[in-house]
Amino acid sequence: GTARIGVTGLATMGGNLARNLARHGYRVAVHNRSMTRTQTLLDKHGDEGDFVPAESMADLVASLQRPRQVIVMVKAGQPTDAVIDELVELLEPGDMVVDGGNAHFADTRRRETVLRERGLHFVGTGISGGEEGALNGPSIMPGGSAESYQHLGPVLESIAAQVDGQPCCTHVGPDGAGHFVKMVHNGIEYADMQLIAESYDLLRRAAGLEPAEIAEVFRTWNSGDLESYLVEITAEVLGHVDAATGRPFVDVVADEAEQKGTGRWTVQEALELGIPVTGIAEAVFARSLSARAGQRAAARGALGASSGTAKVGDRQAFVEDVRQALYASKVVAYAQGFDQIRAASEFYGWGIDLGAMATIWRGGCIIRARFLDRIRQAYHGNADLPSLLVDDYFAGAVSDGEAAWRRVVATAVESGVPAPGFSSALAYHDALRAERLPAALVQGLRDFFGAHTYRRVDRDGVFHTLWSEGRTEIGT
Ligand code: NDP
Repeated sequence: GTARIGVTGLATMGGNLARNLARHGYRVAVHNRSMTRTQTLLDKHGDEGDFVPAESMADLVASLQRPRQVIVMVKAGQPTDAVIDELVELLEPGDMVVDGGNAHFADTRRRETVLRERGLHFVGTGISGGEEGALNGPSIMPGGSAESYQHLGPVLESIAAQVDGQPCCTHVGPDGAGHFVKMVHNGIEYADMQLIAESYDLLRRAAGLEPAEIAEVFRTWNSGDLESYLVEITAEVLGHVDAATGRPFVDVVADEAEQKGTGRWTVQEALELGIPVTGIAEAVFARSLSARAGQRAAARGALGASSGTAKVGDRQAFVEDVRQALYASKVVAYAQGFDQIRAASEFYGWGIDLGAMATIWRGGCIIRARFLDRIRQAYHGNADLPSLLVDDYFAGAVSDGEAAWRRVVATAVESGVPAPGFSSALAYHDALRAERLPAALVQGLRDFFGAHTYRRVDRDGVFHTLWSEGRTEIGT
């Protein structure tokens, strides 16, 4: 065959990725379970580049150069397994299967093992940027073997988003590393959106600003440290007016957030690894709470809708306080996400370069932001940074915003506007740097009821107090 690469699964993502490849001059073999999608792609966009349509999977494989490279862009889960099973029978040792869907990294590890035993490379690849990114340049997070990246890297890097002349694509690490990093990317996206939503809620309900005014606030913020895709589109959504009713769009949308699962996966894995990702967890739970409409209605009935009464006096000062609180809380959420990637990298032996992850998230993906360049600098300055919060720049930024952060959380509490993201981020920041934590008391209680033992601050060893026998201490 003569095609450089193949794509199977030509729905929104696969179709746009194939077009992106063709526009970059690659001869692309295209295939879909039902031929109509392939035909539609060619009818509409066939003139954009060099497409080779394939009616069957066998045709697709036959049309490819060796070693063959096939990108699978079908529904995650069982459909992905079905397509891989079909491909495996047709491929030869050295060929590569790239899964660009939103697979769970554990599935990717399982599939990688099976294909490796057959001499095939399985490359679980995170792709972020949605429909638009797939077409014009996504952020690409490939896992799999280093050998497979030698073949795939140049192609993937050329179709990825580019920032400062660098592609938003790099080899993340072996087996499931790419899909793991994509999962945490999505978790951070949840946390970021929750913090933005809390900022809006506080500005509206505690400070009395209208959605159009808040849109303007976000537009202004987008020209400073907070510059990011999510802040930019927040201004768009808040400024939008519903055509049917003339009301702010945000007031006609049902306030029940949905989720497809990557945020939940991130928190589940963080629990397994023992890494506190409180920002992501609060965001996932806030969505869950919002979706419990019946329970919310019952609570409104029993408790009344509004609790606090405090109102903000100086609106302008409060807007600036919220900006600083948002930035500081965001730093915490990202610090936690990067901690989780580091922990998984150590546990699975992936060798992930954290600075490189910040680099490939600067463009193409949903959390793209100016401040990711600061994260890149922090980890490239010191790869063993114990926490992003410890880096000179971020430590300074968080300290500068600390007073504002406390005022905003206090205002949230007094005015009855829930701000779980802001307040848990502040609690994390206070706990992380505390001289002493009440964990000492927790240890004492555990020793009292369960003889779970404790360590002392002044001597090495493990100790237990005989609580019901004269309280003498025994040590080992
Ligand atoms: P969908 O997830 O809607 O999947 C539709 C595609 O899967 C179609 O090509 C369909 O073929 C194919 N398919 C479904 N079941 C089977 C099967 N059993 N055997 C063979 N083919 C099957 O498409 P999207 O483009 O939205 O997403 C593709 C992947 O990319 C998903 O894993 C998704 O999670 C991921 N993703 C999506 C993003 C987005 O913004 N949408 C962003 C990043 C990743 P047919 O036409 O014959 O029905």
